[in-house]
Amino acid sequence: MTATIIDGKAFAATVRGQVAEHVARLKQEHDITPGLAVVLVGEDPASRVYVRSKGKMTVEVGMNSWEHKLDADTPEADLLALIDRLNNDPAVHGILVQLPLPKHLDEDLVINAIDPAKDVDGFHISNVGLLGTGQKSMVPCTPLGCLMMLRDHHGSLSGMDAVVIGRSNIVGKPMAQLLLGDSCTVTIAHSRTKALADVVRRADIVVAAVGRPEMVPGDWIKPGATVIDVGINRIDAPEKGEGKTRLVGDVAYDSCAAVAGAITPVPGGVGPMTIACLLANTLTACCRANGLAEPEGLTA
Ligand code: NAP
Repeated sequence: MTATIIDGKAFAATVRGQVAEHVARLKQEHDITPGLAVVLVGEDPASRVYVRSKGKMTVEVGMNSWEHKLDADTPEADLLALIDRLNNDPAVHGILVQLPLPKHLDEDLVINAIDPAKDVDGFHISNVGLLGTGQKSMVPCTPLGCLMMLRDHHGSLSGMDAVVIGRSNIVGKPMAQLLLGDSCTVTIAHSRTKALADVVRRADIVVAAVGRPEMVPGDWIKPGATVIDVGINRIDAPEKGEGKTRLVGDVAYDSCAAVAGAITPVPGGVGPMTIACLLANTLTACCRANGLAEPEGLTA
């Protein structure tokens, strides 16, 4: 079998197009422009790249975008004061604090200072609780993007066996909640899981969110299963020239694609969906804040 490639790049462009249409309608019919504020503390190069591309795409769909760049040694009280200002600014519908934060800042405290209604990353403890109890919440962007691709590919996920490898708060755990919400039978695997290969072999759906390059080989995959690769790992690529690198996922793409029914590539799979879902969440937050109907198909 050769797997169908789930084209996250194309899907993300479609989602961004839908968001842009809704934004244009909000402006025209209600004179409302959704707005996203992104807060970056420090100079982490990867975070700077993410923040720049988030800002660019926010503007491209017609939303307001604000970037707050703070020094690496910003006192916690100053960061909390900024979040308080953004919480109370009616033009701001979404607030994202780029992680990781410098070590002297308490990440949990900072995230839980964001108004849950504006928490477009879905990391606030209230949103975690709402998601876990099946209530309307802000859903973390990366797992939301994975869910959208799975629903698009399969239609109903009901009754499917899903294995999520990884139990982080930002990917693994919310992914498992979303799959459970769609009536999958869900297993969460992690570094202490015994006989991981056998666990993965049972799965109709495998979501790999580990951070270990090409850890999942093709012979762990049940023939015809759907493989969602969340991992983004940069490895040396001497074949491209001295000092060159390339991105790979957490699954060994070629061997898995030879067995799976469908698979997401890296790059071009989950990554682009994450930013598209951030924009979708900002739109959803804006609609909720203004008592307007939420766009369909853009949240869980
Ligand atoms: P994380 O917080 O480091 O969590 C990794 C998880 O993998 C942990 O639960 C860990 O288990 C588990 N793990 C580690 N080694 C394992 C092993 N040998 N077998 C089974 N499980 C193992 O990572 P994360 O933030 O969830 O991110 C995971 C990957 O997704 C990274 O490559 C990251 O770059 C990528 N990512 C991509 C996007 C995107 O937009 N595409 C977004 C977020 C993250 P323990 O809990 O037992 O330690």
